[in-house]
Amino acid sequence: MKKIVVKFGGSNLKTKEDIGKIIKTIRAYNRPLVIVVSAFYGITNYLTEGLETVLDDETHITAMIDFMKNLKRETLEENIDDEVFRAAAYEKVKIRLEQLHKFLLGIHYIGEVPDFIEDQVLSYGEKLSSLMLTLILKYNGIDSVEAMPEDIGLVTDGAFRNASIDFERSTEPVSRALSEERIFIIPGFYGVSAEGRVNLLGRGGSDYSAAAIASCIDAESLDVWKDVNGYMSADPGLIPTARRIENLSYNEAAELSYFGAKILHPRTVEPLLKQKIPVKIFNINDAGNIHPLTVIGEQKLNGISMLKSVTYSDSFAILKLEGAGVGIKEGILAEVTTLLDRNRINIKSVVTSQTAINIYLDSPDLTGAKTLLEKYPPHAVTSIIPQDNLSIIALVGDGLIHSQGLAYRMIGAVAEQGIDLKIVSVGASDSAVYCVVDRNDREKAVMVIHEAFFK
Ligand code: ASP
Ligand code: MG
Repeated sequence: MKKIVVKFGGSNLKTKEDIGKIIKTIRAYNRPLVIVVSAFYGITNYLTEGLETVLDDETHITAMIDFMKNLKRETLEENIDDEVFRAAAYEKVKIRLEQLHKFLLGIHYIGEVPDFIEDQVLSYGEKLSSLMLTLILKYNGIDSVEAMPEDIGLVTDGAFRNASIDFERSTEPVSRALSEERIFIIPGFYGVSAEGRVNLLGRGGSDYSAAAIASCIDAESLDVWKDVNGYMSADPGLIPTARRIENLSYNEAAELSYFGAKILHPRTVEPLLKQKIPVKIFNINDAGNIHPLTVIGEQKLNGISMLKSVTYSDSFAILKLEGAGVGIKEGILAEVTTLLDRNRINIKSVVTSQTAINIYLDSPDLTGAKTLLEKYPPHAVTSIIPQDNLSIIALVGDGLIHSQGLAYRMIGAVAEQGIDLKIVSVGASDSAVYCVVDRNDREKAVMVIHEAFFK
């Protein structure tokens, strides 16, 4: 029988009571599962900040370890009544925290954070979650075993911080390691290089870990538990009348993530495409209800295109490089992209005209990119103008690009409100059409666009 990979993310691990909901859900499945967990909510950020602080401040190391010990102790107290069992569980947690302690000491004494240590340290959020869940499941009489990526052979391409899984190397060992009919608990967010070093899979990457594992074992489905009601036609915080979307194609899900929907990591569907493994989204606040709110999978288009959702992202900025003839002079773009790439700044898109090159970036990268380009100015560029406080709003649905008048309706709805459109793009993919507005206009623009299409 094929297995289900079940992923519980940070939003399912916010309070010490949350594990109770997870146990209820695992019981409801009532079958062997491969479970992938994230760090407890906020812990990866806490570790990231801690890395910097411990460089200069040795006392912060003990403070961090004590803080985490306390958190774990409270969670064990909430979930394990038997004192003897609880004490034994706490000992195991302390041993794992002791390992983390040593890495932090190492950082402090060598006075820098080497790549491979950074990835190691940040993986502890997940490593503590998997241990805690395994211990608490055992206490509840549910047969389960912790399975570490380094032990099951989840091998990466060797890149630090933002690695990809090497499926040629991983598929066979991972499927063999997880073949037994029992519950496996795997820490998400990292794999190991061929040399055995921890490599993170990018922020939010435990969705991608879970998908990669689902692909390796050719799972029946990837079940992702969140704390919201699946995908909606718009952010329900902004649009109270937003509707739930029952089905999405892989492309639609990928585009929605790319343009700001925070449900799945943008790379989640990538490993699942070939085997057509569906992704199912559930809400942990309805713990134990194994009925998906949204299913992502292969969809037949039947020639009818349908708008599924209006999404937005505020993390959008433009760096405008002006100069006479930059649009036709050779090599400028190559200089820019090489420079940014070397410094690990991701370019979301590039739009050029005769006198300007517009580089689309994630907002947090804007200042870094500007500083770099000012330091190493590409030839023919005479001024560099950063534009922040923008929002990108995307309409997502397969085949949208063939739907006549769609862009016209979008532009019309926004223009009627006197909202200034900075950019409109149709055609970058079959499934997404987008526009860029001032951040201040974003709320209104999403409202009127949603209203124009979902009456
Ligand atoms: N804990 C990691 C992060 O915060 C990975 C994840 O949550 O998916 O980025
Ligand atoms: Mg996540």
